[in-house]
Amino acid sequence: MAISSVLISGASIAGPALAHWLARAGVDVTVVERAPELREGGHNIDVRGAGREVLRRMGLEDAVLAHTTGEAGTRFLDDRGRVLGAFPASTSQTGGPTAEVEVLRGRLSRLLVDSCEGLPGSITWRFDDQVAELDDDGSGVAATFASGDEERYDVVVVAEGLRSRTRQMVFGGGGGSRSAHVKELGAYCAYLAVAREPSDDDYWNWQVLGRGRSAHLRPDDEGTTRGLLTFLSDVPGLDELEPAAAALVMQRLYAGTGPIGERLVAALDTEPFYFEALGQAVLPRWSQGRMVLAGDAAHCASPISGMSTTLALVGAYLLAGELTAPGASLASALDGYERRLRPLVDAAQKLPPGTPRVGNPRHTAEIRVLGALVGLASSRAVKRLKLGEKLISPPADAVDLPRYEHLEAAPV
Ligand SMILES: Cc1cc2nc3c(=O)[nH]c(=O)nc-3n(C[C@H](O)[C@H](O)[C@H](O)COP(=O)(O)OP(=O)(O)OC[C@H]3O[C@@H](n4cnc5c(N)ncnc54)[C@H](O)[C@@H]3O)c2cc1C
Repeated sequence: MAISSVLISGASIAGPALAHWLARAGVDVTVVERAPELREGGHNIDVRGAGREVLRRMGLEDAVLAHTTGEAGTRFLDDRGRVLGAFPASTSQTGGPTAEVEVLRGRLSRLLVDSCEGLPGSITWRFDDQVAELDDDGSGVAATFASGDEERYDVVVVAEGLRSRTRQMVFGGGGGSRSAHVKELGAYCAYLAVAREPSDDDYWNWQVLGRGRSAHLRPDDEGTTRGLLTFLSDVPGLDELEPAAAALVMQRLYAGTGPIGERLVAALDTEPFYFEALGQAVLPRWSQGRMVLAGDAAHCASPISGMSTTLALVGAYLLAGELTAPGASLASALDGYERRLRPLVDAAQKLPPGTPRVGNPRHTAEIRVLGALVGLASSRAVKRLKLGEKLISPPADAVDLPRYEHLEAAPV
């Protein structure tokens, strides 16, 4: 069955990467994104192993390497600002808390969108709109958009992130913090950019503050500093609060925590921030009829894994390769996508033991344990063994990445 038209919902990483590969194979693609424009927010994200290989095959590796954030490594600080230990950036393509390829999420998203120009298939971008209804009649999917427009597609791909609304529409399971398809990890993260101060350096400075809280400063390549607030909480749905209410929660939570935490929560009043509850998407099957999940909507592994972006890039390549393989039926293409990607997802979703608690200790004894671990792992003798890199070494190559000649032969 030859696929000629695909609707992708979500324009972040998985959506544009998939649009690129499908359009390269001559498929006409529509990408619908509910935000009014491409979302530029977010932090440094890692691209590791097979994810980097996919960027290479897209012809984007050099462009991404030209925009890395220059993060020199990761340094852990205790609640009084004393250094517990530090790890230099990785020099391998897979390991270390700071990966070799660290790029701002918004920058990678923009590079992926720009890479969709001039490909054999057409790409239509529909911002400020979303899917309102989908009807799969077996030979195609009729999509009704919130704007009222109606179109028909061979396949619909949902790439809307961990808390996807369209996934709920197609696969059920409930939504928001009560989704049966999300394994909650009991932690929240707020990401923002703040004005760079002379004391900010090129390290990821990770300060543990007790009571399950941490505050982080990271360099970027845009002259600002990226801030991150992480805290443990079993209270569901804080990410569904209005931004001003979420800011107030964090301002109360970080009051009196010292310069880093207080600087970041003060900025929540003036700077836009992205606030999420950490979780993993877990579904027994990623497709139903002509509707398929991709990226975090299918298999988010959480920022703790350092693998979600790698999974999104690899999954986009595999899904496009299978869907457009000469002679493939839709059913065999979707089976192939699952079969090839599942092992990587399963491995990526196995988080290091004790996370997210270990990096966000609750009391002095836990801070001491973290200090001892980090101190040992970053000591000079142990450093020679590259233990930090081995301890934090996501399974970024645990996938058999086929060469889809029919995709790669297409002009870029
Ligand atoms: C603004 C933003 C900032 C982020 N910052 C970080 C970060 O700092 N660190 C990190 O590890 N990960 C971050 N992430 C998540 C990271 O991008 C993903 O884990 C990973 O790259 C996989 O991407 P994805 O495209 O599958 O999903 P996502 O990146 O989550 O993107 C989903 C996209 O779908 C859109 N969308 C959602 N619902 C609908 C709908 N109903 N209709 C149409 N469009 C919809 C969203 O607006 C978004 O653009 C961020 C995501 C976003 C959206």
